[in-house]
Amino acid sequence: MIYLDHAATTAAYPEVVREMTPYLDRHYFNPSGSYREGRLLHKKLYEIREKLATQIHASPEEIIFTSGGTEADNWVLLNAARTYSGKGRHIITSSIEHHAILHTCGFLEKQGFEVTYLPVNRNGIIDCDVLADAIRPDTILISIMYANNEIGTLQPVHKIGQIAQKNSIPFHTDAVQAYGHLPIQVDADFIDFLSVSAHKFGGPKGVGFLYANKELALTPLLYGGAQEAGRRAGTENVAGIIGMGIASDISATHRKEHTKSQQTLRDHLMNRILTEIPMTRLNGSRHDRLPGNINVSFAGIDGATLIAMLEARDIYVSGGSACSSSDPSPSHVLKAIGLSDEMALSAVRITIGHENTPEEIEETFRQIKDCVHELRSLA
Ligand code: PLP
Repeated sequence: MIYLDHAATTAAYPEVVREMTPYLDRHYFNPSGSYREGRLLHKKLYEIREKLATQIHASPEEIIFTSGGTEADNWVLLNAARTYSGKGRHIITSSIEHHAILHTCGFLEKQGFEVTYLPVNRNGIIDCDVLADAIRPDTILISIMYANNEIGTLQPVHKIGQIAQKNSIPFHTDAVQAYGHLPIQVDADFIDFLSVSAHKFGGPKGVGFLYANKELALTPLLYGGAQEAGRRAGTENVAGIIGMGIASDISATHRKEHTKSQQTLRDHLMNRILTEIPMTRLNGSRHDRLPGNINVSFAGIDGATLIAMLEARDIYVSGGSACSSSDPSPSHVLKAIGLSDEMALSAVRITIGHENTPEEIEETFRQIKDCVHELRSLA
């Protein structure tokens, strides 16, 4: 099987699995336990918190363990609505966010909040002048993703952070697709809130973290025990957090070599598809894009059929976000960058991981070309 859907999820590193296992059986204790084993686990979790904080230039108390990216995204928006509504009820986001952001914004609109969805250009990038113009005296949060999960486009996070800072508005970025793949510094980019998910960079599923600037108020999302300094109740996912810590270390250590190999394979496959298969279009920016992401529309072809044909040949790619794979309507991201319904429905997302080989990429190209030829000749 050739797996090319790394934006949906990644395999856990073998070291992650190895290190997690003892925390499911031998060290199964509750980190809130007052006995020695509990205290040791509490200390271990603190060490991971410290390491994650160091990675992004934050302090340990600014790292809050969550169940993943969706929880962190929901929390930041709901927190703004609950905690800053004294100042206003206006939120700015982009039209190409993940549904964890868009559906929470939809919920808040029903509660009387106003949301501005910034448009993006043909490459999927917001215009910072349009952002600055959208700011109002009652704006309480700017939430713009770091990297898009469908087309891999990177946003001008530093400039967005500067604008937010200048206007004293908290800035959240959904970094679920970026963390582990790109170096992120919350201080340099004026980021106040950051969402991270472990299963996108070789960690386990169901765990992530929220970075929250300690200068800003944060109302708990879950009430109960005193975990996470009373901000997020519930017994910690000990093995998951340990796995996330190791995955984060490995990703940071190997980032340069992984980026280089992903970019090389991505550019090779992208160029061959675009030059050797007629009537194809790259979706998203060619340069400001995640190292492993390719999103291509094949004119006249139904993307879902092409994906199913590739699956029958043991090649796993996707049509866009894994969370909306059951939704037959065209992707909101591809519509936002100006694609017709037909071109949006003909898109395929190929996301390359560090473990993919040149042989796999060669085979994928051959099979895509063959499937596209077959589908077009049938039509
Ligand atoms: N945000 C983005 C950009 C994502 O790609 C995803 C997952 O695909 C999420 C949020 C949700 O993260 P999780 O799967 O950890 O809930």
